[in-house]
Amino acid sequence: MGGGGMDPKDVFSLGLGLNEPWKLAGHRLDVEKRPHELHLEVVADRGALFPCPDCKRACKAHDFESFTWRHLNFFQHHCFITARVPRIDCPDHGVKRVTVPWARAGSRFTLLFEQAAVILAREMPVAAAARFVGITDKRLWRVLQHYVARAVGALDLGSVRAVGLDETASKRGHNYVTVFIDMDRADKPVIFATPGKGKACVAAFRAFLLSHRGEPTRVAEVVCDMSPAFLAALATSFPKAAVTVDWFHVVQIFTTAVDQVRKAEARRIALAELETGGFATAAAYRAKEMLRWIRHADTPQAARWRITRFINHIGTGLDPTAMLDPVRRALGTVATHTERIIQRWKSSHSNARLEGLNGIFQAARARARGYRNTATYITIIYLLAAPLPDILKSI
Ligand SMILES: [Zn+2]
Repeated sequence: MGGGGMDPKDVFSLGLGLNEPWKLAGHRLDVEKRPHELHLEVVADRGALFPCPDCKRACKAHDFESFTWRHLNFFQHHCFITARVPRIDCPDHGVKRVTVPWARAGSRFTLLFEQAAVILAREMPVAAAARFVGITDKRLWRVLQHYVARAVGALDLGSVRAVGLDETASKRGHNYVTVFIDMDRADKPVIFATPGKGKACVAAFRAFLLSHRGEPTRVAEVVCDMSPAFLAALATSFPKAAVTVDWFHVVQIFTTAVDQVRKAEARRIALAELETGGFATAAAYRAKEMLRWIRHADTPQAARWRITRFINHIGTGLDPTAMLDPVRRALGTVATHTERIIQRWKSSHSNARLEGLNGIFQAARARARGYRNTATYITIIYLLAAPLPDILKSI
């Protein structure tokens, strides 16, 4: 090609980021395939030395094997790279397959292809991103899991002082996942997600914190719900932390109580055992509505006074019918956790943070649709909501 134009080989080499001893030997367009396939052949200079993957010592090739990688589409064509990759015989590490500069060890995709796929998966459901790049969602999940795990491994949690935790399920009522957030981070707050719920999750978080430059004794506050398993585990794993019960969870237990009373009452009415329908539901609802009055207290003292009034007033006024037992249980829970609930008035952390998690959980479920299990759900929660600035950096 004249006039200083670039050789097509150089264009492809540039796109691959090829460097010595690797160079492009040829290209072939397969028009039998739909979409057409562009195949690039990469070879190493004869007699070249290759770095040992363990110690980087330059070694001679021992033997070769041919591998193929899927690369970024070249315009509308699917693009593949084939190369004969040597094994070297390192005096210290023995016979090892060398790592090629365009792909990570063990992957059948080039780094540029994986980078494009990860960027797409941040913007759309994983199944859609997989269709777009022309691979199965199972393979895209494997790529995502690799990069997310590596970026999560590099998280520095040395500055974590206040933690919020909540549980979610990848499917309704199944496969619980417990998620921990840094209460001081407004954006991308998720720092740990683990399968299960309860005691073991808190211990797992403590271990994770320790292995990521965190210090459990410097965690001064933990915001959570009133689950006895969590609370017991927090006392042993984070002995210095003040525990704050999130207001959102107080409202939640009364919402559940109203619902249970309403269902029980509807059954009774259906059996025509009651003359005046709806009295129990109304009583349960009044209890829930009174929470608003507590929430608007200005000081911890005022909150304590209102909670005491609430428990006494609602509790003594409640009809003894068994139908109202869910409300009695909810009142008992509030009585047990009064101090932790009042902690909210002393805390500088907004309880909007934990409520915000619900939006993240919903988005993550939608992104993982079609291939959702505990592992994929956790991967996508991290991808959407964890501070992972380095996820693509080393590609
Ligand atoms: Zn070596």
